[in-house]
Amino acid sequence: MDYTRKYRVEPGSKLRLDRIDPGDTDGKSDKQQARAEIVQANQRLRELQYLLYAENRHALLICLQAMDAGGKDGTIRHVLGHMNPQGCRVQPFKAPTEEEAAHDFLWRVHKVTPRRGEVVIFNRSHYEDVLVVRVHELVRKKVWSKRYAAINAFEKQLADSGVRILKFFLHISKEEQLERFGKRLEDASKHWKISESDYSERAFWDDYQRAYEDALEKCSTRHAPWFVIPADHKWYRNLVISRIVQETLESLDMKLPPARVDIDAIRCKYHALAHGDGG
Ligand code: ATP
Ligand code: MG
Repeated sequence: MDYTRKYRVEPGSKLRLDRIDPGDTDGKSDKQQARAEIVQANQRLRELQYLLYAENRHALLICLQAMDAGGKDGTIRHVLGHMNPQGCRVQPFKAPTEEEAAHDFLWRVHKVTPRRGEVVIFNRSHYEDVLVVRVHELVRKKVWSKRYAAINAFEKQLADSGVRILKFFLHISKEEQLERFGKRLEDASKHWKISESDYSERAFWDDYQRAYEDALEKCSTRHAPWFVIPADHKWYRNLVISRIVQETLESLDMKLPPARVDIDAIRCKYHALAHGDGG
């Protein structure tokens, strides 16, 4: 299955989120049925990240956006959980500090992008500046409406310098969100996650969906595509994202760097000697 093609927002196309089923599992009935594919995807992801790190040529930036309880944390655990922590980083974006707010909106973003060989996941991202900022009118329309072009130019510059960019919108239904909030209420270990604003933000659900549609339409490009990931089923969400990351990394045609020394000579010099010494 070509997950990349199936869930990518085609550049220049119109997007209607209400026409995309958050409960889609591509005909797979449950996690058990997909288990073999999940295990294989995770295994391959680990190998590819090792290659990325060793080759030290490309970088990978993954942007995660979702409504509250959309599954950003779970996705991060899942995707990064199968990678070597050396070479991976998670970068959260909260409301800007005073210093950040005193700069242009991309100032805080650029300096935390991945270096060569590295995988970085943005937990929220510069897109908040055309999402929450737009929905709550934190700046005037005249200001936020220019940001789409700024984002495209910024991402193009990153891509041109070797950063692969994948942007995932975890698409959940409004009902599923309420269900997940309810489960948090029942689980004392998750009480710290609950805030009143989780509920009050639900009044803005439709505004957020419009803001997401606009952002995804305007900023899904060849060099930095957006994907709408059906996310009501966590196992399917994880599978699809693993697969898309895998497909992207495969396309880089990475190779382990050649040895920098004469391996046979080293073996001969140190190991043959050690054996000869009886040690
Ligand atoms: P969780 O999903 O687990 O609750 P979180 O990412 O929501 O984690 P919080 O500390 O709850 O973390 O929320 C961060 C808040 O910061 C979000 O409400 C988000 O909208 C807000 N935020 C992020 N970037 C900006 C921005 N540029 N301007 C204003 N608010 C922002
Ligand atoms: Mg939150």
